[in-house]
Parts: sequence; C-alpha cells; structure tokens
Amino acid sequence: LQEHIVKSTPARYNSTQACLENDISGTDNKGFKGHDMLAPFTAGWQSTDVDPLIIEKSEGSHVYDMQGRKYIDTLAGLWCTALGGNEPRLVDAATKQLNTLPFYHSFWNRTTKPSLDLAKELLDMFTAKKMAKAFFTNSGSEANDTQVKLVWYYNNALGRPNKKKFIARAKAYHGSTLISASLTGLPALHQNFDLPAPFVLHTDCPHYWRYHLPGETEEEFSTRLAKNLEDLILKEGPETIAAFIAEPVMGAGGVIPPPATYFDKIQAVVKKYDILFIADEVICAFGRLGTMFGSDMYNIKPDLVTLAKALSSAYMPIGAVLVSPEVSDVIHSQSNKLGSFSHGFTYSGHPVACAVALEAIKIYKERNMVERVNRISPKFQEGLKAFSDSPIIGEIRGLGLILATEFANNKSPNDPFPPEWGVGAYFGAQCQKNGMLVRVAGDTIMMSPPFVVTPEELDELIRIYGKALRETEKRVE
Ligand code: PLP
Repeated sequence: LQEHIVKSTPARYNSTQACLENDISGTDNKGFKGHDMLAPFTAGWQSTDVDPLIIEKSEGSHVYDMQGRKYIDTLAGLWCTALGGNEPRLVDAATKQLNTLPFYHSFWNRTTKPSLDLAKELLDMFTAKKMAKAFFTNSGSEANDTQVKLVWYYNNALGRPNKKKFIARAKAYHGSTLISASLTGLPALHQNFDLPAPFVLHTDCPHYWRYHLPGETEEEFSTRLAKNLEDLILKEGPETIAAFIAEPVMGAGGVIPPPATYFDKIQAVVKKYDILFIADEVICAFGRLGTMFGSDMYNIKPDLVTLAKALSSAYMPIGAVLVSPEVSDVIHSQSNKLGSFSHGFTYSGHPVACAVALEAIKIYKERNMVERVNRISPKFQEGLKAFSDSPIIGEIRGLGLILATEFANNKSPNDPFPPEWGVGAYFGAQCQKNGMLVRVAGDTIMMSPPFVVTPEELDELIRIYGKALRETEKRVE
C-alpha cells in the first residue's frame, strides 16, 4: 500500500504518507476500509486507500474514534460545536420538540412557534445595526445563496436591473453551493466546476503579513485595499455593483483578522456607491471573537447578515439571514405587488433546529459565553503565540478562540516550504498521533476550539502543539 501511494503521489508528501508514517490511519475500522461515501472535500486517496478516521462519540471538547482513542477537537467539528460534544440541554430541547411537533413548514403564512421565537431572538440580539427580519435555511451556503437572491430581488424592485454584481474577497469562504462557492475566493472551489459565476468579482485578501508592501503600515495597507476596491467598482461601473460580502475574520481561507482600520475604510467605499454590505458571520457569531458578533468587534454596520454553525452549536443543521429594515421594506412592498417572495426550503425554520438554536442562545446568555471566551482566550492566544519564534513558523495569528499557524521559511510569506515536504500535513499527523485534531490546509494549521474548552484542556492543547512542532522542526532541519 505504501509503495502504491508513494508511486502514485511521487512529488508531494501528503496526509496519507503522514498517516502511514505516524500510524494514525484508522485500523480495525470494522469494515469501513475504503468506503462507499463520496466524502466532502476529500481526495480519492482518503476514501479508497486509507481507512477514514471514524468519530463515534463526543464529550466536551473531545471526540473519540472507533478504537476509543480520544482527541481534543481543536476545530470544534467544523468551527461549529461551540457548546462542545454533549450538552444535555440541547438534546432535551430537540427531544421535546420532536415529541411535540417534529416538523411543520413555514410556507404560505403558516409556520411554527420555535421559528417565530428564534427570529425574534436573533433580531433582538443583533445590535450592531437594527435588523427587521430573519430568514431560515439549513446551512451557511444556502444562507449566502439566499443573500444573492434577496439582493437581486431588492434591486429589481427598485428598478435597477443592472445592479447585480457581487464583490467578495480572495481567500474568502462563503460556502460550496454554486453561488456561495462563486463568492468563495479559493481556487479549489472554482477549478473544474466552471466557477465563479460571471457576476462575482473578487478583490484583495486583507492579509497584512502576506501582502503588505515594504514599509507599509497596517493603516496604509487598509487604505490601499480600500482604494483598490473603489477602483474595481469604478472600472465595472457602480451602477452594476449590488453588494460586497465579507467575513469579519476570514475563517477557512486561513484565519485572517482584518488589518487596523480596514472595515472603516471598506464600509466608506461601499456606502459611497450605494452597495449593500453583507456580513458573513457564520464562524464569527455568538462569541468566537470575544464579542457576540464579529460586526461588534469591527464596528460593521451590515445591511444583511449570514449566520449558521454556532447558531445551534451544530446539533441541528440551521442557517439564517438577517435583513435590515431598509432592504426588507423594499422586498415586502414588491412581494405585495407580485403575490409572493418565491424562495424557501422545505426545512426553512425547521422547528427542531429552531428549538435547539433557541436553547443554544439561552445557554450562551446564561453562561455569559462572551465573557468566558474573553477570560480563557488569552491563555489560548498567548500560549500558542509563544511558539512564534520557531524557525519554521512564519506567522501565528488570531483572536478570541480562533487561530492559525502558517509555516514558512525565514519568517517570510515569500519563502514557503516546498509543497512536497508537506510540513503542514506532517504537523497535523503529529498532533493526531498525540491525541489532537487540527485543520490542515497546505502549510496553514487552523484551530477554533469550543467555547466550553477548559483551562486544563488548553494546557493540553498547547503541550501537544509544542510536541508536534518540535517533531516537525526536526523533520524540516
Ligand atoms: N460562510 C462561512 C464564513 C463559513 O465558514 C462557511 C462554512 O465553513 C459557510 C459560509 C458555509 O456554511 P455551510 O458549510 O453550512 O454551508
């Protein structure tokens, strides 16, 4: 097997090799070796050659595989299980709702109480800018697709049929459906899918470390990026640009917090040309950054907001779009003329998902989760940033409970390690061998532990990180 893999992937040291070398492939997976699932974001070699890591149980910040091995789940699933792996109140909320009303829809002016209650709760909670309506989806991707349809409907209603283009940013992640993948600024989501759709444009990624010019301050960098955005708008014609979409802190693209003054300057440009601002809060909302929403952290005043993930702590699939009164008034008056706003999903406002989300929000409030994140995040941030001196680390960046490590030679973004060294994959494999799961994307390692992570678990996380780092340094030397 090893020979086959090495032959079939001659140049690149990949996670398969990391698995084999580190003995972390799932052995004794009870017949799941090479399985039938076409797995999301999984290369063929993972689903056919090597046993998948099959997670069977979760408990607090930990997950367990089929062999009973325990791992600290530093990504909280996929940046989402904010309340950890076994919160009984969420299970009770789901069970209670399942026993009362497992399903009813929200079409044609019929709906359910949990969906109405959740809409009210979200509108009350989001205070960065007053929001008037909430629309429910099953995922973040569907929510961002919904944003595009809302914005188009809005501009059609206003008699501006040409104002339809979207501007997103390089390295953004907004989902993987056709439209949300188009908004995403990662080549892997475009290549071989004939994307992005032609109405989507991408502007600069605001990663100061990687893209600033020699001598340029963060503020100057932000000024340049805002100018580039304005130039793009003017080149395309402001009358054609409908909306700008941004994550407050970029997540899957590599955990990239904005440089100083970035959102102030970007918002000024967007406002100047009557372009709507969409805050994609799918990762940042509910306390991840140390504020209830990412918009609170960066003084963003969005016209539309996207939510998902921690909305239900991922116990049930649910996403949401919040719509400002300015936008929703136009949509309402148009739909009164046309007869209906013809968009929605069977499971929009699913009562079980809404009941779980209501309970999750209740817990965030009761346990002062934002305050808790602020209390424990210095240990996480400072504990890991203390490794910044490592000769193989280019940058460690993050805030609150979200952080990335980018490996690079000579501390320089222009000096990456050869991809075939697989530095990130090797580090990830070392973490896994030592009981910790991290997100590996090339030579960038990402973490966003559950909000309930304890100080002791953070000590353990930092210890395993340090051990994996030393092993990786030895390999790279
Ligand atoms: N937006 C952001 C910022 C995300 O991080 C994600 C998922 O990671 C999405 C949208 C898409 O959400 P989903 O995977 O639920 O479709």
